Amino acid sequence: MTGRKRVDMIETEIVIIGGGIAGASTAYHLAQYGHRVALLERGEIASEASGVNAGAIGAIGWGNVPDLESHLTMGSLEIFKNLQVELGYDIEFRRSGCLQAIQSEAEYAYIQGRVMALRSQGYTVDLLSTWEARTLEPELSPALLGCLYMPLRAQADPTKATRAFATAAERSGARILPNHEVTGIQPHGDETYQVETSQGPCRAATLVIAAGAWCGSLGAMLGVRIPIVPVRGQMWASAPLPPGVFHTISAAESSLQWHTAPGNDAETPPYLTHRGGQRLTRHLYGRQTRAGEIIFGGDRQLAGYDKVPDPAGIEVNHRHAAEVLPFLRELPIKRTWAGLMPFPLDGAPIIGKIPQHPGLYIVSGLASSGFGRGPMAGQLVADYIHTGHRPHVLSEADPARCVTLVE
Ligand SMILES: Cc1cc2nc3c(=O)[nH]c(=O)nc-3n(C[C@H](O)[C@H](O)[C@H](O)COP(=O)(O)OP(=O)(O)OC[C@H]3O[C@@H](n4cnc5c(N)ncnc54)[C@H](O)[C@@H]3O)c2cc1C
Repeated sequence: MTGRKRVDMIETEIVIIGGGIAGASTAYHLAQYGHRVALLERGEIASEASGVNAGAIGAIGWGNVPDLESHLTMGSLEIFKNLQVELGYDIEFRRSGCLQAIQSEAEYAYIQGRVMALRSQGYTVDLLSTWEARTLEPELSPALLGCLYMPLRAQADPTKATRAFATAAERSGARILPNHEVTGIQPHGDETYQVETSQGPCRAATLVIAAGAWCGSLGAMLGVRIPIVPVRGQMWASAPLPPGVFHTISAAESSLQWHTAPGNDAETPPYLTHRGGQRLTRHLYGRQTRAGEIIFGGDRQLAGYDKVPDPAGIEVNHRHAAEVLPFLRELPIKRTWAGLMPFPLDGAPIIGKIPQHPGLYIVSGLASSGFGRGPMAGQLVADYIHTGHRPHVLSEADPARCVTLVE
């Protein structure tokens, strides 16, 4: 990957803006199909959400009638496996399974109903007693009421995985260009786009916006409103410890809250932990990394583009994690960090063709689970561009439903 200054015009077939997991996977799949691709990234590859997330990969099966969600999750799971096992990239992938802690009678009733419904739809989930769950994850609190078990779920190192896609794309012929901030986009007739960057211009007939929480500002350069807002997610890590947590771990409190009240309106996306500074629920996810750190996070807050963690939220999350894994109670927090997730206002991914301009595509709106869903999102948009036909599952993610011309 090159970061040196250039002034020459890059003429290519497809320009991708954004070097997170969505853009890097799109570049990889398009290059595999033999297209000439340049990926423009403002910083380093994986310098934003794709490099700072928890590395949890969500998947519960294809189900009897595979929909967009099962394609994104199960398709991504297969791509991650292939990256590590077939292509030989060490991305710390592990099909660890996930245990979701149940802490109240109301959560138990909700999860019990959910497990029955999901199983009847062909998904792989189970409701475990605490006793059974503790045979899989011995440090779980005996005070839990049980666990939702999702054995297909997995984990990987987010930075290594995202960079592996970019490296694999480059090895297939893509130009990966870090330190190239896009500063302007001009459509030239109906044929091409000229993309201005901090290092010189690029020209291409096809443009893919994969700029995560910054999609809105890229859309504004083309006179379209893309309804994606930045949502701050934050995490903490312990010092490295010997192996002691084997699954990804979560808690059911937020699932029940968001099932009851998703909390969205015209200006606010669903599934946040806070509204107007007030906490609505506690959300929890975490795991132990290969280096031994215990990492946990959960809060999802509208805070503009502020990436400074809120210490009060970290404290609440640490206490919640310790309710589930009591050995964390006395474990000091060594570091904290935050990143910005691309939340679509209506809650659904935005993947496909933007109808207001020819040859303009977007792959984003993957919200709080874009690491686990980004690889397949990239493959689906690459399939669309390569074949000229929209993969049928992308009807659920059609940008035409929500991207509008700026008045
Ligand atoms: C704390 C935290 C924990 C999370 N945990 C999980 C998890 O466990 N599992 C999971 O599945 N998901 C998780 N997520 C969500 C996941 O990280 C995101 O959904 C996903 O990374 C989004 O990928 P992306 O490629 O769309 O965006 P990004 O990774 O943000 O990439 C967009 C890129 O576009 C670049 N860009 C922006 N503007 C420009 C410009 N003008 N010119 C050039 N480049 C530009 C940015 O620099 C950035 O690198 C978490 C997120 C956070 C913040």
